[in-house]
Amino acid sequence: MAHKQNPVQKNRHAAFVRQNGRCFYCSAPMWESSQGDFAQRHHLSVPSATWLQCTAEHLKARQNGGSNRGENIAAACRCCNWRRHARKHPLEPLAYRNFVQKRVQAGKWHPAQVRAACAITNVP
Ligand SMILES: [Zn+2]
Repeated sequence: MAHKQNPVQKNRHAAFVRQNGRCFYCSAPMWESSQGDFAQRHHLSVPSATWLQCTAEHLKARQNGGSNRGENIAAACRCCNWRRHARKHPLEPLAYRNFVQKRVQAGKWHPAQVRAACAITNVP
């Protein structure tokens, strides 16, 4: 029996599907509910796989009037989500995405183990 999901979870899942399971910011593959399987498939340790858990990212922050509606929710890995909000002044989503993509291409975003496991193909 499917458990009841709140709107954010539902929209996060929709975004996950829409984005082919890839992070909105760094394009890394993500997992929603099977961390162990995911870790095994990508040759990651289970703790490292935590960084690639799919989270809901409010494109417009709740505090700025952003809603929980589908069009305001993107799927982002825990790493990108956490780092964005760890900044004193979080960048706007598209600016942050550019920033992350540059770091990914320079090999300076995910920890080495995660990076190798993702084998991220960057489409220019
Ligand atoms: Zn990411």
